[in-house]
Amino acid sequence: MAARLHGLGTTIFAEMSALAVSTGSINLGQGFPDTDGPASMLEAAIAAIRSGEHNQYPPGIGIGALRHAVANHQSRFYGLDVDADSEVLVTAGATEAIAAALLALVEPGDEVIALEPYYDSYAACIAMAGGRRVPITLCAPDFRLDLDALRAAVTSRTKVLLINTPHNPTGTVLTRDELAAVAELACERDLLVITDEVYEHLTYDGAPHLPLATFPGMRERTVTISSAGKTFAVTGWKIGWVCATPDLVAAVRTAKQFLTYVSGGPFQPAVAEALRLGDDYYLGLRASLLAKRDLLCAGLASLGLDVFAPQGTYFVTTDVRPLGYSDGVEFCRMLPARCGVVAIPHEVFYDDKTAGRPLVRWAFCKQDEVLSEAVERLRAGLARS
Ligand SMILES: *Cc1c(COP(=O)(O)O)cnc(C)c1O
Repeated sequence: MAARLHGLGTTIFAEMSALAVSTGSINLGQGFPDTDGPASMLEAAIAAIRSGEHNQYPPGIGIGALRHAVANHQSRFYGLDVDADSEVLVTAGATEAIAAALLALVEPGDEVIALEPYYDSYAACIAMAGGRRVPITLCAPDFRLDLDALRAAVTSRTKVLLINTPHNPTGTVLTRDELAAVAELACERDLLVITDEVYEHLTYDGAPHLPLATFPGMRERTVTISSAGKTFAVTGWKIGWVCATPDLVAAVRTAKQFLTYVSGGPFQPAVAEALRLGDDYYLGLRASLLAKRDLLCAGLASLGLDVFAPQGTYFVTTDVRPLGYSDGVEFCRMLPARCGVVAIPHEVFYDDKTAGRPLVRWAFCKQDEVLSEAVERLRAGLARS
């Protein structure tokens, strides 16, 4: 294996999802919903397959209907004026968009500043691009962005700020002031920003999602990434997209065309339809996930865990120390056999292992009965010693 891939190992999700299957556990590890997305979207995909018009390679940049729907979505929700023909690129999920953006924009040796705990693929993709990752740690209990640390981390080698808001796994939603400071820093130090906004429609308690591209000076230097997976509960479809200036889209497309070239032919028209669903869909999605957040947070708190209620995403973080554990990895390896529940330790998402050690992430994008059953299994299992 090439040296730049050393230490990347197997993703924790593979290990924990396999454990979930072998122990018959409820999987609150990996963040995938256990109910289907909007019926009209599912029907549109079936119709697209039946019509025979979408079963061969779609255009490299994605079908026009989807690119127009993405541009329309950016204008409808954020007032962003995006040209569907030159400023949108359809990708194999947000995952490919992140990989292609980093491969396209990072030179070997360039520094990429990213918020840790990182989303699973960031460290690997920065490494594959030959970049050097520079972490900014979001620390418990509030997981806010330390703007002084961010400013201090920028050097003459810094090329990219890799931002994720709403943030997985902490659930932090960056505020207008925090984003304005990030934008100012990016402009002042002439940095590119790659921003992963896949949870853009999943924010709670009135925390608004504000795309970085809407801040002054940012439209020209921001690669915005999102995906249908989380918004429409189809994480297996892997339809994502990039919005950026024509030059940046062309760069990302250059890398993307040699990764997958294209993907998801019949899913593209279906996602185009879904993006145009009325506000009731988006509001209903948020209300449903908010209720699930509250259900799981209350259940985990009733077990004695320290619960950090998230302002966004599919996930809640807990500190396991009140239960007498000090290590989240140990806790998560014990959990399936003892309780029949799978969760994910934060530690694997940090360079600063100490910051993540006692933290565990739980997914609440599951049916209410599943969440309640998980809490009862935990209550019974943890009481047994
Ligand atoms: C799920 C997720 C992704 C991956 O999205 P896909 O469209 O499934 O590739 C990217 N970033 C974050 C933060 C995620 O949680």
